[in-house]
Amino acid sequence: MKGKVIIFSAPSGAGKTTIVQHLLKVYPQLEFSVSACSREKRNGETNGVDYYFISVEEFKQKIANGEFAEYEEVYKDNFYGTLKSEIERIWKKGKHIIFDMDVMGGLNLRLQFGDNALAIFVMPPSVDHLELRLKSRETETPESIARRIGKAGQEIKKASLFDNIILNDHLETALAEAEKLVGDFLK
Ligand code: 5GP
Repeated sequence: MKGKVIIFSAPSGAGKTTIVQHLLKVYPQLEFSVSACSREKRNGETNGVDYYFISVEEFKQKIANGEFAEYEEVYKDNFYGTLKSEIERIWKKGKHIIFDMDVMGGLNLRLQFGDNALAIFVMPPSVDHLELRLKSRETETPESIARRIGKAGQEIKKASLFDNIILNDHLETALAEAEKLVGDFLK
């Protein structure tokens, strides 16, 4: 079977992961697509749950083998991508897929899946807000925060290309809005 796909994209720190995790609890017919990535594993992350952590070399080999539905070098030497095998794995279980990915990857997948996809952009209240959230994570270095903030302005410019925009100013409101959009799409 080919199920539906729901894509959440946002600048890093906008809160999309919190929204995606909430939707996974509300809608058991959804399964999270675990991406492959070449960055270091953070404390608390688990291989095969948060990401498939692989080396840059292995990532490049998989690109050469045509194993990715999409991938991006989100930051220098930090590759992230969706394996075709991951999509098949979830569809085989009869579930719909929910993705958490960067803006370019989200738009790319949206084009590939057409009407079978819903692409949602999570808008932070401001770039200053993003910086505060990234600092409070305590897992980011000053360089990685600067890189992420540097990218956010470009990403926000692409928001209007998504099917819907959710402003994550007040989390409860954003969660309710996400629930409604996804619930309607899955009907
Ligand atoms: P982080 O390092 O904070 O986990 O993720 C950095 C960025 O990469 C986030 O915007 C995240 O959504 C994005 N990302 C995660 N998985 C994928 C993927 O499979 N493809 C693409 N294009 N971006 C991804």
